[in-house]
Amino acid sequence: MVAITKYKYAKRIGVSKMTVTRRTATNVLLDTALKNFYGAAEEMGLDENLIAILGSSERRLEVSVPVEMDDGSIRIFRGYRVQHSTAIGPAKGGIRYHPEVDVDECEALAMLMTWKCSLAGIPYGGGKGGICCDPLTMSMKEKERMSRAFAARIAPIIGTWQDVPAPDVNTGGQEMVWFVDTISKLRGHLEPGVFTGKPIPYWGSMGRTAATGYGVATCGLELLRVLDKDPKNATVAIQGFGNVGSYTALTMVEAGAKVVAISDVTGTYYAPKGIDIKKAFEHISTHPKKLLEGFTCDGCEKKNLDDILFVECDILYPCALDGVINVKNAGDVKAKYIVEGANGPVTPDADEILTKKGVLIVPDFLANSGGVIGSYFEWAQNLSGYFWTEEEYNKRLIHIMKGNFKLVWDYSQNSSVPMRRAAFMAAIQRVADVVKLRGVFL
Ligand code: GLU
Repeated sequence: MVAITKYKYAKRIGVSKMTVTRRTATNVLLDTALKNFYGAAEEMGLDENLIAILGSSERRLEVSVPVEMDDGSIRIFRGYRVQHSTAIGPAKGGIRYHPEVDVDECEALAMLMTWKCSLAGIPYGGGKGGICCDPLTMSMKEKERMSRAFAARIAPIIGTWQDVPAPDVNTGGQEMVWFVDTISKLRGHLEPGVFTGKPIPYWGSMGRTAATGYGVATCGLELLRVLDKDPKNATVAIQGFGNVGSYTALTMVEAGAKVVAISDVTGTYYAPKGIDIKKAFEHISTHPKKLLEGFTCDGCEKKNLDDILFVECDILYPCALDGVINVKNAGDVKAKYIVEGANGPVTPDADEILTKKGVLIVPDFLANSGGVIGSYFEWAQNLSGYFWTEEEYNKRLIHIMKGNFKLVWDYSQNSSVPMRRAAFMAAIQRVADVVKLRGVFL
C-alpha cells in the first residue's frame, strides 16, 4: 500500500503555509523509484505542480484472471497494468509473470519505463503489468488460457495508440502471440502493433534478439571513447550470460576488448588471458538449459558464483538480477566502470559507496534501453506494414544509443552530477516539457 506523507514546499513558491504531498511506499522498489524521481526533480528545480503530476500514475488497474486448470478446477489469478504516464505517447512496458508481482511493483517499473522511453527519445510514456502466478509450475495450456483471459481483461486500456505492452520476466514471443490474437479477435481486426516482442514470423522484427546486449555493449564502448581509452586494451567481466550478457560479450570482443570473466547460475568462468566468447556462445546455444555448465577454455578457471563481481577489470557488466551489488559487497568491487545491463543491479547504498570510490556507473535505463528502442522499431514497422533488414535495424539502434549516451554524458559533465542523476534529470525534463506544452486537462 502507498502511504501519503505531507511535505512542506514553501521555498519555491513563497507561500509559507501551503503543503504538497510526497508519496512514500512500503514496497522497496516503488519507494526507491519515488525517491529517485523526487531527488532529481528537486535538484533540477522542477515546478511543484509538475512534481505532483509526475509523482502519481495515471492508471493502476487490477483485474481478476479466471483460469480453468488442467485438472478442471478454476483458479483466480490477480493481474495488473499500471500506466504511469502517457504524456509523450502510448504507455510502453512489459508484462511479467512472477509470484511476487503486485500493483506497487508494477507502478515502480512503469515509472522507470517513462524515464527510459523519454531518455531514449522514443514517442512513448511508461507502463508495466503482470500476473501474480508461478509460470514454472503451469502447463502450456494453462499459460495460454491465463494469457488470453488477462489480455481480455486489460483490453479496454491497451491499444496501438493507447498502451503497448511487451515481454518481461517469464514472458516472451509465445505470450505476445496469444495476447495479439486475443485482442485482434475481440476487435474483429488484426492489431499487430498492440504488443511488441513478437516472433519474427508473426509481425516481429529482425535484430530484436540481440538489441539489448548490443546497446549495453555500445554504452561501454562509448564510455571508453569519451575517456580516450582504446577498447583493444580494455578488460571486461560480464555477470549473467543469458540473452543480454552473451550479446554484450560478443559485441565487446568484436570491438577488440578482452573478456576475462563470464558467469551464470553455474558459477564464474575466469581466464586472465581472455575467454573464447564464440565458444561460450556456442556452448550455451547447445546446452539444454542454455547454461555455461561444463564450459572450458584455454587457461579458464572455474570460480564461485559471486567472484565475477570482484574481478580486476576495466568494465564490469552486471547483466543478471537486481540488487547484486549492494552495501555488503560494493567495497570489494575492483572494476573501474560499471555498465548496468540488468535493471537495478546496483542498490542506492552501493551506488553511493562506488561513486565515492570513483567508479563510473552507466545507469540501467540508459544502458539497457536497446530493448525498448527495438520495440519501437517493431511497432514502427507494424504501423507501416513494411519490414526492415537487420542491417537497417542495427544501424538505427546504434545511432540512437550513441546519441543518448552523449546526452547523458554531456549533462553529467556540465552539471557535475553522476550519470544516473543526469539520466533522471534529462528524462524528467523531456516529460515535464511535454506536460507543460499540453496543459493539465488530463
Ligand atoms: N521489458 C523490457 C523493459 O523493461 C521491454 C519493454 C518494452 O519493450 O516495452 O525495458
